[in-house]
Parts: sequence; structure tokens; C-alpha cells
Amino acid sequence: MFEKILIANRGEIACRVMETAREMGVKTVAVYSDADANAKHVELADQAVHIGGAAPADSYLKGDVIIAAALDTGAQGIHPGYGFLSENPEFVEAVEAAGLTFIGPSAKAIRAMGLKDAAKVLMEEANVPVVPGYHGDNQDGTFLAEQAEVIGYPVLIKAVAGGGGKGMRLVEKSADFSDALASAQGEATTAFGNPDVLIEKYVTSPRHIEVQVFGDGTNAVHLFERDCSLQRRHQKVIEEAPAPGMTDEMRFAMGDAAVRAAEAINYKGAGTIEFIVDGSNGLRADGFWFMEMNTRLQVEHPVTEAITGVDLVEWQLRVASGETLPKQQEELTITGHSFEARIYAEDVPKGFLPATGTLSHLEFPTQARIDSGVRAGDTISPWYDPMIAKLVVHGATRDIALKQLERALRWTDVGGTVTNVSFLALLAAQPNFVAGDVDTGLIERHINALAVQPSACTKARSVAALTALGLRPLDGSAPAETLVLWSPLTHSMSLIHNEERIDVDVRVNDTGNYSVYVGEAEHLVTFKGGSWWVDTVKVLARTAQNGDDLTVFWGNGYRFTVVDPLVREDEAGAGGNVIAAPMPGLVKAIFAEAGQEVSEGDRLAVLEAMKMEHSLLAPRDGVVADVLASAGAQVEDGTALIVLEEEEE
Ligand code: ADP
Ligand code: ADP
Ligand code: MG
Repeated sequence: MFEKILIANRGEIACRVMETAREMGVKTVAVYSDADANAKHVELADQAVHIGGAAPADSYLKGDVIIAAALDTGAQGIHPGYGFLSENPEFVEAVEAAGLTFIGPSAKAIRAMGLKDAAKVLMEEANVPVVPGYHGDNQDGTFLAEQAEVIGYPVLIKAVAGGGGKGMRLVEKSADFSDALASAQGEATTAFGNPDVLIEKYVTSPRHIEVQVFGDGTNAVHLFERDCSLQRRHQKVIEEAPAPGMTDEMRFAMGDAAVRAAEAINYKGAGTIEFIVDGSNGLRADGFWFMEMNTRLQVEHPVTEAITGVDLVEWQLRVASGETLPKQQEELTITGHSFEARIYAEDVPKGFLPATGTLSHLEFPTQARIDSGVRAGDTISPWYDPMIAKLVVHGATRDIALKQLERALRWTDVGGTVTNVSFLALLAAQPNFVAGDVDTGLIERHINALAVQPSACTKARSVAALTALGLRPLDGSAPAETLVLWSPLTHSMSLIHNEERIDVDVRVNDTGNYSVYVGEAEHLVTFKGGSWWVDTVKVLARTAQNGDDLTVFWGNGYRFTVVDPLVREDEAGAGGNVIAAPMPGLVKAIFAEAGQEVSEGDRLAVLEAMKMEHSLLAPRDGVVADVLASAGAQVEDGTALIVLEEEEE
């Protein structure tokens, strides 16, 4: 076994790997960028090495710097996590050339599966069913259009080098083919530097079911399937294991095909064979086709760990250090059902727009496994994936696990940024999903019902108002002091919630509670014994406040902005041309460049001041004329940072 390993990654996966390494008595080395100097993965590691700037290209993608860090610290192996260098065969070769062990498959196996077209040819040879289509060399547009006719519409155009849903276009009819081809090729060139595509039959009622495989270089086993059909923009949102409706016959057929695929390339380590399944007539043993292999540990691996009891990272370290497969196929069984929900800083109603922010509050339910790379106070920066955590539950049955999932989401308290938590909670209770009737279009079909911004009731608004007024500590037992502090006995204040201004009046009663007037409603509210009480009923609301940003967690996280009565609403900037620093501070990031078109509300810059980050937004739609400051600059109050072009009449 290794004495020490380096983890060439960040965030939750770096933390995840370190936790198992620690349990196995293996020392860990973290690497970190400028943006991650105080990150959780750095804190967890035994040693940490700074490898460069915040942009991935300057740090987490610098293979040579990472290998040098491993050699300097005496690490014997490098675990790549997922993303970054995990599927880069040149990196694997460089690691091995330096005399270190890559904790993962061989460069040859990664290469064999690296391009979707070559992988499909290889899988056909191994008798694994592949999605019907054209995956040859001819990239001529007319020829590809003919192939699409032969395959029959609808078809999917996919970048052969694709990943993360990029470079993919669904085409419903021949008239749309050439435009779709051009845009897929364009996106593929930008994202992967390779314009080549393949054409596939678009499977109707598609379900994404993948099989976890594990090999030791000679033999492979599978650890059953995961259903990842709940997707938005071809990216996974909630995953589960086992797949709902799976039959023994189909599981055997899929597992067998996946093991054949892994053994065909002498696979070593953890990998995933992704299949697309035709779910239109239930699951059938002849209704699944190979899509691609991901030659690494997958984001959603915890659901497999939950149902099999296997620690996949432990297996990775054992096999990488020379052991054979820790278990044979017949020793692996499924117990219960598991779900994983990916919690992101993102604005769901705005089309899942990634968000940033400082996590002023972060609390998770104890009944779930939480894999997270951030702590309260940490920042979701614009540099990396905005995932906050993965929440994983395991129950005896699918129904039980799904109830646990919904409940756990209702107790996931994230303050300081917009998140997808309430969307996930609604999704966990969505009737088709609850019934196990899933396909990759489910989220999109129900998006209007799932993406609603939850609106706080007047009780939650009352709790928000009292918290903002600082009246929360009032305990029924000792009201006197607080009363003195808060004389006069009536307070008026305002909150903004979902862009609505809410005016609240609060009267302090001599009985030790408050009468809160919100619109038409009146509530009697107090805080005693560690809990909020509304209209004499104890409620489960929690609150968190950071400056003027306040969240009431009560079934959902309801965000409020506290309107400061002393600061007059400053509308001077609105409609103007100059975006200026509202206070002295450090420019953390600029997201604008000259000539760029911006819309009102777009975040153009981040200013760090008074230990907080302030987003500077575009005051109106327009075009950026000039950018006068750059990241890292210390600026004075009122310094012009960005200028918009004069508005046209
Ligand atoms: P999955 O999401 O199931 O792991 P995908 O192949 O769709 O499978 O996604 C690739 C994975 O690698 C994602 O989890 C994503 O977060 C991660 N990833 C992709 N690109 C990057 C990148 N540039 N930096 C860090 N992580 C990345
Ligand atoms: P990526 O490398 O971006 O992960 P995949 O080939 O794995 O690309 O496909 C991503 C997603 O696109 C799948 O999970 C599925 O939802 C959808 N998809 C891919 N191929 C097909 C197909 N032939 N028919 C229907 N849906 C598909
Ligand atoms: Mg995929």
C-alpha cells in the first residue's frame, strides 16, 4: 500500500479521496490554486502545495507542476479525481515516466475510450450493443446528412471528443440538419479543439442507465447500475441505484456487457459504462445501447457505494498498489436503494444559471451522507464548478429512500447564494419520478412546476423581520432588558423578497412576545427555548444573516434583503454609463470586456470589501465601452471600473 498519495484535484472529490486515504493510514498531499489557499481540501490534507493561479489552465491542469509537487513531497501515487486531468492519457504517461503510480486506468485504456467514435467501434468488436448510427471518418456534410436519412429521424449529432453535454444537437427533421451540424461542430471546436462528430439514432423515451465497473487490469466485475435519467441540458441532477423497474434479466445482460467492455481494454480501476435505454415499453434486455465509457471515478459513485457497501476509493488505492480485485462478482449484492442530489449554486428559474457567493451559512441534515468541498464562510468562486455538495441517502426501499431525500433537502440550509435546493425538493416529490417513471426529458417537461421560486408565507416573513431587527434573542423568561433596548415599542422595517418590497410593523408586547403586522396578516411571534413560536405554535424555522442578506430556512430557504432605513435607495447609477466601486476594496474579478453586450442585472465585477464580496451589476442593457480596472487592483470609493457605451436614443 502507498505511504503517501497526492490528489490532483480540488473540492468535494479531493476531500472524498482524502477521507478514505486517511482511514487506510495513507498520508495525503493536496494541491491548490491561488483561489483555494484556504479551501477545505487543503485543510484536510497532511501537506499542501501551491501550484498556480486560479484559472484551471494555470494550476489544476498543469500536469508537470503537479508531478513535481508529488516528487517533492515524496508521494508515490497520484489520484486524479474526476474532471481536470483524470482522462488525459499524456498526463498518465508523464506520471509513470516520473516513476509514480497513476491511480486509475492505463493511458492506453483511456485513449481507447477517449473518442466516442473509436470507442463505439471497439465495443462493436466486443459484442457490446452500440447505438445505431454512423461513427466513421467521413466528415463531409452532405454525406453525414445522407447517413442521418439512413438512420432515420430524430437523430443526435455528437462531438466525438464530447463531454459534459457539449457539442451535442438533437435534430428532428432533415431540413434542420445542416444548421445543427454547423453549430455542433462549432461548439466542439471551441470546447475540445476537434470538430469531428458522429450521428446516432435518437432513442425515444430515453433513460440513462450506467454500470459501475471495476477492473484489476485482467479481470473486471460490475457493481450494478445507476439510473441518471434526471438531467437538465444533458447533465445529471439526481441519480439513483438500483434503476427503477430493472429486471434481473436486463441487469444481467447490462452487467455482462459492461464487464466485456472493461475486459476488452484490460481496464484497471473504477470506470463507468454509460448506456442509453429505450424506456418506451418498460425495460427489456435487448433495449440498451453503449454510449460512452468514463474512465474515472464518477460524480455519482456514492449511490453505488451505498447499495453495495463497497468504498470505491479504497478499491482504487488497493488495486493501484498491486492487489487483485477485492471481491468477485458473486460476492457483490444490492442492499436497499440510494439517491444522490447535486446541490449547486445556481439560479433555476433563470435557466440553471451558475451563481457565486460566500456561504454565510451551511448546515446539512445528519441523516444523509454529505460529500462537500466547502464549509460555512467559503466562497463559490466563478473559477470552478459551482457544486456546493452532494447529498446521498440510503433506505430499505425506493419509497423510503425518496422520502429521506425530500426530507433531507428540506433540512439543507445554505445561506449567502442562490441554490437549486428547493428545485431538488420539488423534484424529489414529482409524481412521475416518485412512480419510477423517469426519462431524460422529465425535468424539461415539468420545468414550470419545478422551477418556481418559493415565496415565503407571512409567518416566515415575520420571522425574517424579527431576525433583521435583532429581536430574536428575546426569551419569554427575560423580556425586560430587551424591551429597554428596543424602546420605542413599535418598529417599522422593510424587506425585499423575490423582488417584492415587504413593509413590516412590529409591536413589542408586555407578555414577552411580538405582534408582527405583514400586509393584511398579524402574527404573534416569539423565540424561546431555542425555537421560534408563531401564533403559539412551535415551528421549525431557522435563520441565518450576513449583512443585509438574510435567509429563513423553513421547508425552503427563503432569501430576503434587509432594507437599511439609514441608506437612501441610491438610484443615481441606474441608467448611467459608469459602474463604480461603491466602497474602497479589492477587485476580485471582472467579467466584462470592451465590446461585450450585457443585460441589466448581469454581474460585471466582484469587489471584496469589508470581508464581503459585492457583485457589481449592469444597471441596464448595453454594450461595454471600456474596462478600467483589472482583478487584483485595490480601488477607492467611487473609482470607475467599467463604462458602458452611451445609450442610443
Ligand atoms: P458525470 O457528470 O457523470 O461525472 P460527465 O462526463 O457528464 O459525467 O462530466 C464530466 C465530469 O467532470 C463532471 O462531473 C464535471 O463536473 C467534471 N468536469 C468536467 N470538466 C471539468 C473541468 N474543466 N474542471 C473540473 N471538473 C470538470
Ligand atoms: P457526454 O460525454 O456529454 O456525457 P453522452 O454521450 O454520455 O455525452 O450523452 C449525454 C446525455 O445525452 C445522455 O445521458 C442522454 O441523456 C443523452 N443521449 C445521449 N445519446 C443519446 C441517444 N442516442 N438517444 C437519446 N438520448 C441520448
Ligand atoms: Mg456521458
